[in-house]
Amino acid sequence: MATTCSAVSNSDRRLEAATPVQYVKGVGPVRAQQLRRLGIETAQDLLLHFPVDYDHPGESVGLDSVREGQRVITRARVLDSQVRRTRRGQTMVVATVGEGSARLRLTWFNAPWMSERLRQGRELVIRGDVTRFGRQLQIVNAQIEAVEEGEARLEDPRPKPRYPLTGGLSQGTLRKIQAGVVPVLSRGVLDPLDAEQRSRYGFPSRAEALSGIHLPQDLDQAQSCRRRLAFDEALALQLAVGVRRRRLLRRGSRWRLGEFGPASGHYVQELGFALTGAQRRVLRAIAEDLRQPTAMHRLLQGDVGSGKTLVAIVAMIWTAEGGGQAAFMAPTEVLARQHASRQIPRLEALGLRAAVLTGSTPLAERREVLRGLASGEIQCVFGTHALLQPDVLFAKLALAVVDEQHRFGVAQRATLARSGAHLLVMTATPIPRSLALTVYGDLDLSVIDELPPGRRPIETDVVDETALDRIYVEIRERAQRGERTYLVYPLVEESEGADLASAEGAFAELCAGALEGLRVGLLHGRLPHREKDRVCSAFARGDLEVLVATTVIEVGIDVPEATLMVIRHAERFGLAQLHQLRGRVGRGGRASRCRLVLGPGVAAPTFRRLQHLASTEDGFEIAELDLRQRGMGDLHGLRQHGELPFRLLNPIQDEALVQESRILAEAILAEDPQLQASEHETIARWLDEMGRLNPLWSSAG
Ligand code: ADP
Ligand code: MG
Repeated sequence: MATTCSAVSNSDRRLEAATPVQYVKGVGPVRAQQLRRLGIETAQDLLLHFPVDYDHPGESVGLDSVREGQRVITRARVLDSQVRRTRRGQTMVVATVGEGSARLRLTWFNAPWMSERLRQGRELVIRGDVTRFGRQLQIVNAQIEAVEEGEARLEDPRPKPRYPLTGGLSQGTLRKIQAGVVPVLSRGVLDPLDAEQRSRYGFPSRAEALSGIHLPQDLDQAQSCRRRLAFDEALALQLAVGVRRRRLLRRGSRWRLGEFGPASGHYVQELGFALTGAQRRVLRAIAEDLRQPTAMHRLLQGDVGSGKTLVAIVAMIWTAEGGGQAAFMAPTEVLARQHASRQIPRLEALGLRAAVLTGSTPLAERREVLRGLASGEIQCVFGTHALLQPDVLFAKLALAVVDEQHRFGVAQRATLARSGAHLLVMTATPIPRSLALTVYGDLDLSVIDELPPGRRPIETDVVDETALDRIYVEIRERAQRGERTYLVYPLVEESEGADLASAEGAFAELCAGALEGLRVGLLHGRLPHREKDRVCSAFARGDLEVLVATTVIEVGIDVPEATLMVIRHAERFGLAQLHQLRGRVGRGGRASRCRLVLGPGVAAPTFRRLQHLASTEDGFEIAELDLRQRGMGDLHGLRQHGELPFRLLNPIQDEALVQESRILAEAILAEDPQLQASEHETIARWLDEMGRLNPLWSSAG
């Protein structure tokens, strides 16, 4: 490849969707490397690297119509200008410009060279945000251009796209690259909607939308193009989910379980508490599913601490009693081992064979477990996605439980579905119902909407770093009462970012300082798994009183004696994530507390968001609030972390688009369940293309 390409110059190469970015005009090996960090490998990836916002140039107005609070482009002549020095030794360039009787003051700080461009009498194009200075209108740090210099680029009224960037790559460079790619690549794309449908929805064509979102004439056009493309994402999802679901419904399950024995009753009895009403209701639905001739496909949603594990274990016991094998998959080693160490003895006490298998299971033990699974001897197994490796063969896998779904890919779920086993997916991410139906439309939905009795509310407050001394005192007091504290930091080590406290740094400092004499442990994702295990169990046993950690503890760790959660730089976390972290305390019936400690200089809206979190413990409300407040830029971040599988669609804000797309998809699939009719050929091909971009949009599997 390299030899043939090197003979061809950039301009000779025809630009195609699959063209590697390195050969795109304006990109070379260095920029290709930078683009790759953004997940951009091909020209098509560039086309689908959407702006997160636009620099809107401002409204073009005459000087006499300029008003405070506007962003404007205007023309005026320089009346006078001077360079001053402020008391702090900064330079300040001040000019007065005028047109007719209208006047405007222009001020620049620390830009002495500006004065050279302000020759008296020169006509300028001026752009900036209008503020007030005493009785005068003023623009600080305006962009200016002398009209005599020619084309007056500042007057170009088109919004400029703002792209997510990465180190070394400038906005201007990426805009130039995109300006070359977008018009060429957008031209030939498939459009799932015909002209009649487009006019019904008031949408531009997909080609126009792809071009217009990058290079809009104005913000209205940018907005309507975004809507069209968001609709396409929703439509692809609805079609893919619809096709998959219709196929699944036709596929039978090998595991139609009959009557269940007494073991699950014994199991619950041993625990010493009764199932909540919600747990019972969900279990009835699951029991019903397990008796059907088709495989169960159920999403179990329940807020942190609602007792999802118990539901899963009961279903696993039923499965084992019915003669099948059950697998429980956790998203991390730590969790898999936590479940295993708790559940295996209880299951074995009921006469069932249970085991654990993770990526770090020693070879000899692994061989043993694989043999037991292949022979069917092991009835219940706990593990990570190591359970999905091809050499793990089950004699009769009848139930797969996937805990904390969002860490698992759709593709992995599809692998499980192909086995014909019943599937129970559990998530503590309180996805609003409408979103759940969108993202997991191929799953039936059960919700545990009730917490086990006796839970005390977690008192939450938002404080700044001056509260830390008091917090350290509280940590000691709690330790004296046999209670434990989590101290969470956004980073593992200092070097990752400036000015942020890190877990490692804090650990060293606290042990020698504020928390001296307490037993403090450190937990983060980069520790070897044995060390993680050791630290977790020490904290669970009470050998450690304080756990300094990163968000590795976010998912599922269950230590009832932990009663204080302190989160540093809370402003750096998403609301849903904070809610998850908070859910690590308040599990044992003792009064628990969560303290959100802000770093310096947090903006007011962020503070209000966190206040809102402090005022409610309703995970669904929090999740919905979180999504409602996220703009396009935030969605980009969510998408990168895999929390939200869309590029443009915000399922909360774009709910109407989701509804429309669902209606259309249902209408199409009602006639043509597998999209095989010739009249749907374009849609089917388009969906194939979309499916290659994102497994969520794939109808395969
Ligand atoms: P999650 O839904 O977050 O996974 P868990 O399954 O970890 O929640 O349960 C949280 C805690 O609540 C556990 O300590 C569990 O033993 C306890 N629990 C579960 N169900 C009940 C119940 N019905 N009554 C009392 N405690 C329960
Ligand atoms: Mg759990």
